[in-house]
Amino acid sequence: MAQSAENKALVLFSGGQDSTVCLAWALDRYEAVETVGFDYGQSHAVELECRSRVRAEIAAAFPAWGAKLGTDHTLRLGELAAISETALTRDVAIEMSANGLPNTFVPGRNLLFFVYAAALGYRRGADTLVGGMCETDYSGYPDCRNDTIQTLARAIGLGMARDVKIETPLMWIDKAATWTLAEELGGAALTEIIVEHTHSCYRGDRTHRHDWGYGCGACPACELRANGYAKWRAAKV
Ligand code: ZN
Repeated sequence: MAQSAENKALVLFSGGQDSTVCLAWALDRYEAVETVGFDYGQSHAVELECRSRVRAEIAAAFPAWGAKLGTDHTLRLGELAAISETALTRDVAIEMSANGLPNTFVPGRNLLFFVYAAALGYRRGADTLVGGMCETDYSGYPDCRNDTIQTLARAIGLGMARDVKIETPLMWIDKAATWTLAEELGGAALTEIIVEHTHSCYRGDRTHRHDWGYGCGACPACELRANGYAKWRAAKV
């Protein structure tokens, strides 16, 4: 059967916990799934390096999903680093800026990601884009908000003269519920892949192993991941 655009999804996939759950979510729902990652000069390329490993682990543990998992794309957005001064792209400490946002915020990052993903999806026959943006327990990033994302989907659809759907399965759930969703989708096999092979730490630390995975244990991303994991485990017993 030929694949129609309706059953093909393109997942914004960084190799982190959230986008890995989104990948599983998409593999559970769509007949064909491709992934795209963005290299914008992150200080720590470790997250991008996790991508192929996570894809391979998922394909091996879930053969039905593996059969649907298509091409992985990497797009280089180096100019985004040139216009950003943040802890993700420069060697500075992570702190709160005067505007109340952490300096890990890259202005408009997700907007650019989705426009590039939509252009790629157009070529690849995928009108559904899937991203791990979440309004619930992030740090107030305005480009993670549902209004932002859905307004952007409308703008992209108008600009490309086709229906473009952006799905954000994590938008209204917290980190603990993200673990629960992972467990519902793929059981312990999936949560173990997430613990062992996905990466969230802003500092790119893959040397310290915790029950929730690898990371420095002190940066905001590690704190969020550790707290969510603890809350999820506590709710299970
Ligand atoms: Zn960390």
